[in-house]
Amino acid sequence: MTASFDPCEICGSDDWQIVYRGPVRDGAFGNLTGPGAAVGRCGGCGVERLDEATCKEEDFYRTEEYRALLAEPTDAAGFFAEHDAFQLQNLTELWPESVRGKVVADIGCAAGSFLDHIAGLAGEVVALEPCEAYHESLRKRGYTVYSNSADAVVAASESIDLAFSFAVIEHVRDPHRFLADIALLIKPSGKLLLSTPNRSDFLMDLLPEDYPRFFYRAVHRWYFDAESLRHCAERAGFTVVSNRCHHRFGLSNAFGWLRDRKPSGSKQLPHIDSQLLDSFWRHYLEMRGIGDCLYATLARKD
Ligand SMILES: [Zn+2]
Repeated sequence: MTASFDPCEICGSDDWQIVYRGPVRDGAFGNLTGPGAAVGRCGGCGVERLDEATCKEEDFYRTEEYRALLAEPTDAAGFFAEHDAFQLQNLTELWPESVRGKVVADIGCAAGSFLDHIAGLAGEVVALEPCEAYHESLRKRGYTVYSNSADAVVAASESIDLAFSFAVIEHVRDPHRFLADIALLIKPSGKLLLSTPNRSDFLMDLLPEDYPRFFYRAVHRWYFDAESLRHCAERAGFTVVSNRCHHRFGLSNAFGWLRDRKPSGSKQLPHIDSQLLDSFWRHYLEMRGIGDCLYATLARKD
């Protein structure tokens, strides 16, 4: 069926099929939008997007209001307290690539938690972040800071060896333009490591009543699976070197969803608290491609 969706920003198709209709998450768990939200799937490239009227404007991310909506701190120290612990996941997905001596850039770096973890090895560090509340702190740490990719392209075209962008592409107005701009920033031999939530997350099938209204959210405009992410990357001037899926949570999280119909993070349930069990569970989901995050390593096409 058709709805009020403009032609797809990625492929230009206007063949949208509604795959979800109803309230979606608006910030932290428990806050929902009105019932009129809809998610459409593009018949051309397979991406899913939230109807534009329910999405946040891109300017929203320049303000502290965005972190406040997520109930997250808006100062650098508070951000580190929340996010430092997640950087091992990004470092694991980077391995075995080394950043030693390279010019690196994190596109949408927030307070720069990931950059702090690699800055000691890197040759030069570029921080691209629309939220100006973080800029002074990023500059104090010696990073070259830009508010947006247009400014960065003017000042630093084809200068980056290795770019990163974790959990950003799902927010932007135009994912094709977003990746094409990054392609302009990196050297011809450069690479980009990208992550985004995986819409093939196993809980989407297991809890079709409760999980989609949590997974789809007002701050995420785009929802990719591995194939639609590949399609977007290739259209934007990249080739996919590798892609894989990562799962952040142990088995207790899945049991918690099934029992309580709500997220429980890393909280462990009685008896479901074995590292061995969780390790098997995560690797099993990753092998099947149904974990909660997608990662892709992209190389610039010449
Ligand atoms: Zn499309």
